[in-house]
Amino acid sequence: SRRKVLTADDYYQGVVEGDLAMLARAFTLVESSAARHQLIAEELLIRLMPHSGRGIRVGITGAPGAGKSTFIEALGLALVHQYGLRVAVLAVDPSSGVTGGSILGDKTRMGRLAAEQKAFIRPSPSAGTLGGVANKTRECMLVAEASGFDVVLVETVGVGQSETMVAEMTDCFLGLMLPGAGDELQGIKRGLLELLDVIAVNKADGKNKEAAELAARQYHNALDSLAGRQSGRTPAILTCSALTKTGIEAVWDAIEARCKNRRQSGEFDRRRQQQNLRWLWAIVEEQLRLTLHTHPGVQEICNDIEAQVLAGTMPPAAGARRLMDVIFPAK
Ligand code: GDP
Repeated sequence: SRRKVLTADDYYQGVVEGDLAMLARAFTLVESSAARHQLIAEELLIRLMPHSGRGIRVGITGAPGAGKSTFIEALGLALVHQYGLRVAVLAVDPSSGVTGGSILGDKTRMGRLAAEQKAFIRPSPSAGTLGGVANKTRECMLVAEASGFDVVLVETVGVGQSETMVAEMTDCFLGLMLPGAGDELQGIKRGLLELLDVIAVNKADGKNKEAAELAARQYHNALDSLAGRQSGRTPAILTCSALTKTGIEAVWDAIEARCKNRRQSGEFDRRRQQQNLRWLWAIVEEQLRLTLHTHPGVQEICNDIEAQVLAGTMPPAAGARRLMDVIFPAK
């Protein structure tokens, strides 16, 4: 069936009125890489900006099988029912495409949360297509906030650059860990520890309970011995069970406490401002890179310059200057 071509105004009205079907279409618009969609998306985002920013943005990472979707459903249901909040769930896939499928692609996941009026689950775009600066999760986040969602949960998997990306677009970053493998800290990357605000060892139920508590203590000890951490940045460490829904609210309280501290110190807003500035320049740098590699003048001479550099007859710096002169000719 043919759909009417929507204007930015149509999207705008639908989104701010909280129309979920329009919200889904606005996400699709924002994620589109077609130039005509991007123009409408830009206009829409500019209009939505004054309505966005009031939500809490929470990143959630964990190895496959750590219980992310079970946890997000349990947390989402608690936020809706116990806290009276509206919850949107977005995802950032690792850009490698190794997994072959998208993490929220399976619509049967989080079925109970998806059925809630006050929840919206956005399946992630197909893996491998929208990594790096082409990723539109931030823009989708603004749309969700403008549509009245109080909490935006951004799920990712502990692979590649996706964790850094998610930490860079959220206010608080939660790591979901498995019990029982605390000895080597489950190969947790030091870089990840620096990004995390809250660590929750999941599956703290039944015969795993003790192992989960042991793992939590091991994280404590490991963090204590990590030199150079500012005290305010030390993550909170908890155990929980997404399956039995135990400790879920304590995890949320730790997230809220972290956000509250940051609001009081002014770091909350500063962090968002810095994130926006870095995103601005990341996009500019990416577009410069694209311009460089698609520039006809560059394509004309680059084979020759590469050949000379390979043959050792031209210093790389001299070749680089020639290429730059093509893009930015001297006046
Ligand atoms: P994801 O890959 O991180 O999204 O993990 P899933 O949410 O799909 O969970 C992986 C498996 O762990 C599933 O079989 C879940 O039922 C199970 N699981 C998730 N959370 C818990 C928990 O708190 N306790 C127990 N015992 N199992 C859990």
